[in-house]
Amino acid sequence: MASEKHTILIYCPCCKQEKEASAFHKDRRSATGYQCYCITCHKVMRDIYRNTHRIEIRDQSKTYYVMHREERHIYYEEHRDQKKAYDKEYSLREHEKVKAKDKAKRARKYTATVERFNDIEIFTRDKWICQLCHRKVNRRLKYPHPLSPSLDHIIPLSKGGVHSRQNCCLVHLQCNNRKQNRSVSQQTRLF
Ligand SMILES: [Zn+2]
Ligand SMILES: [Zn+2]
Repeated sequence: MASEKHTILIYCPCCKQEKEASAFHKDRRSATGYQCYCITCHKVMRDIYRNTHRIEIRDQSKTYYVMHREERHIYYEEHRDQKKAYDKEYSLREHEKVKAKDKAKRARKYTATVERFNDIEIFTRDKWICQLCHRKVNRRLKYPHPLSPSLDHIIPLSKGGVHSRQNCCLVHLQCNNRKQNRSVSQQTRLF
């Protein structure tokens, strides 16, 4: 049966594709009601973030761990039996899930190597000039301002591009979004 529902298409600036809304995580804080990047890209970006910010993430969780040590200890002491029973029950009930999680963790270790650098490094290299429209980018503007700085993967990650300095450049967020219909070869680069 034909559905009367309109399919909303959302443009993902990361993979440069228009996708149905179901391909995006919902985000109540954003104007569209959906996250900026599609689920696939979001995962890739998250892994990149985790890879490039490994030390900060480790330090943060270490601090948290240390700060809540006492509380946690008390809690475990009080709930020892429940916890044991719960863990056992959980691993039985969610066996597949636990296994899959394990596998994903191992797979992540072998995913394409990503260079560690932060956005600012690229923005500075590009002299705060948008590599698409060749106009200045105001470093004080923050996402989601259309003129805010945005990191663009010249060859999209979804098309086999890597997260390397060479494959990244500074663009305005709006230029990134407008790039949709342009092919990579049409881009001119300043450096
Ligand atoms: Zn995407
Ligand atoms: Zn621009």
